[in-house]
Amino acid sequence: MGTSAFKTVRGMRDFLPEQAKLMKYIEGKARRVAELYGYKEIITPIVEPYELLSAKAGEEVRSRMFVFKDLGGRDVALRPEFTASVARLVATTLKNEPKPFRLFCVGSIYRYDEPQKGRYREFWQSNYELMGSDKPEADAEILMLTNSLMKTAGLKKYCFKIGHVGILRGILSEEKLDDRAQNAILQLMDKKLYEDALRLVEHSGASKNCLTTLRNLVKLKGSKTLEVVERIKEHVEGYTKAMDAAENLYEILKLILESRCEVDMNVEAGFARGLEYYTGMIVEPSVPELDIALGGGGRYDRLIELFGGEPTPAVGIAHGIDRIMLALQLQKGMEEAEEEKTVMVIPVKEALKGEALKTSQVLRDVGISAEVEVMGRKVAKALEDADRRKMDYAVIIGERELKEGAVVIRNLLKREQKTVKIEKMAETIKGRQRS
Ligand code: AMP
Repeated sequence: MGTSAFKTVRGMRDFLPEQAKLMKYIEGKARRVAELYGYKEIITPIVEPYELLSAKAGEEVRSRMFVFKDLGGRDVALRPEFTASVARLVATTLKNEPKPFRLFCVGSIYRYDEPQKGRYREFWQSNYELMGSDKPEADAEILMLTNSLMKTAGLKKYCFKIGHVGILRGILSEEKLDDRAQNAILQLMDKKLYEDALRLVEHSGASKNCLTTLRNLVKLKGSKTLEVVERIKEHVEGYTKAMDAAENLYEILKLILESRCEVDMNVEAGFARGLEYYTGMIVEPSVPELDIALGGGGRYDRLIELFGGEPTPAVGIAHGIDRIMLALQLQKGMEEAEEEKTVMVIPVKEALKGEALKTSQVLRDVGISAEVEVMGRKVAKALEDADRRKMDYAVIIGERELKEGAVVIRNLLKREQKTVKIEKMAETIKGRQRS
């Protein structure tokens, strides 16, 4: 096969400079939010044991993992999320460290999803985990930092969908449905296949009362968050665990209101998420322009134990950087970053190439981005090229000027040029705008 036939693997993308810049911009915002909230960055492997990644991921994610045997015959997979890796660390290496842990990671994630807008097989997440606290203020913090990220990234309108898996699981467990049956029902609910989910509940031998309660709950939603939770409580009367869960959700939402974290929220009693490890509050931020979530998270109090660690309650969230990029483009929210000046350094003849390299270094040393003409082009051609690429300045190195310790600086937009002493070069360039 000729090399001309090569293209990226389905679902994998190249990021050209403009997209790469946007992605790194959002990554930078995510890292800044981590710093502001005291989350320390860690870096975990992209390849992990299949057993670890599949333990509690849920059927949906498990069936979409990139799994293979490495050359040593180990069953490994590309990470389909960060949480399992972070939980592994806390269960092992960090197990004797004082709690709470606030940990942040950012990087690529792999899932064999059907490629479409906002859905790829390689995508990027920023991930925050708060481990060691079972208190509602920890859940509230995860919501607040997500709000900070959405806001500082530049999104103008977004909303959080909030629920609590303890409500549905509380009812189902009191009806003696085991974890497997519960997981299957919640998977269907996650896909909004409520009728199928209810049918499964019915077939599992649940009571009439349970079915009626669930039927009422899946219809319950609204933006007056505390009121919706009050109504949930009325419906789950008699189911003790579900009542505790609703009370917990109430406390979290009350803390959010008290914190003055201004964010549109929608409570949905029938909201479920595909990952199996959640035990409490769950959340998905979204924007009106996209019908897919920008992130997903929640409380998972038993995962670390499952990996052999001390019982460690935890709450966390992952944000889809690719989807935040899409949302920003749709909302035209990218703040106009102060464009850096760009300079092309051009020697007028071969013998001055070394001087051109030296001058470019002088510029970079004071923080100016400089490129050197490397194609051996004549000045006129090199200027034409710098202009085509919308660079701001050309610094032309000529023999006569050099003898006087000077260079020619050409403002490419204004098409003006003047001879400037080398000591004044940076000042001249920094002090001027292209437009
Ligand atoms: P999840 O935990 O599955 O809800 O994933 C968390 C977030 O990761 C989602 O809300 C998306 O923003 C992002 N995400 C998940 N799957 C994909 C995908 N196939 N392509 C792009 N982003 C994704």
